[in-house]
Amino acid sequence: MDPHLRTLIDLQALDTRIAALDADAARIPKQIEAIQAAVQEARKTLDALKARQDTARKDLRAKEKDLEVVTAKRAKGEARLYEVKTNKEYSAVLTEIEDIKQEKSRTEEEILGLMELGERLSADIREAESRHTTREEQGTQDEAAARQRLATVERELAGVRGERATLARELPKGLLGDYERVLKARAGLGIAPVNAAGVCGGCRVAIRPQAIQEIRSGTALTHCESCGRFLYWQDTA
Ligand SMILES: [Zn+2]
Repeated sequence: MDPHLRTLIDLQALDTRIAALDADAARIPKQIEAIQAAVQEARKTLDALKARQDTARKDLRAKEKDLEVVTAKRAKGEARLYEVKTNKEYSAVLTEIEDIKQEKSRTEEEILGLMELGERLSADIREAESRHTTREEQGTQDEAAARQRLATVERELAGVRGERATLARELPKGLLGDYERVLKARAGLGIAPVNAAGVCGGCRVAIRPQAIQEIRSGTALTHCESCGRFLYWQDTA
């Protein structure tokens, strides 16, 4: 076999591995981003619930103050019942007290509603906290594993690239350039196998019988007339 043909086949094997490792190396940082985003999402949910709880607490304190005011107003009104001189004044104070009573019961209802809301929010916060903790722990583990995978891939990539550089030096510059051009133009496959089926392993177009003889002998470099890839003979097992 033409020694350059052997080198091209080996170079292609390395280029295929490099492409797969490159794809892994590009995918892993995106996985890490997704892991971090999931943790942040849980944090955001928790923060939003806590903000709602803060607001509910402030509203509750304000309503409790309103209740104190209205309670004092009622006591004052009731005391005035003993001071009024006429029936007309008496019934006017009674009407006033009735209004105050209604205001008081409205405020009490609002306080009750806010207390219920506070309890619901506390339960939701406990749940969101546990979800956040779980996600954070899982996220830390997943991220560490992903970073380790990335380091492994990068180490392997450096190794294969080194091997490839050494091997590439065995080829004449022009031939290496031709191969790399086809590799780039043809989806990472610069040299394709041809087997007994007689088609190009890259583009599946039939090879002329005469060319097949040449490829079988392996003594010269042959290109696919359709896709331009280098071709080599592969015995079907
Ligand atoms: Zn082809």
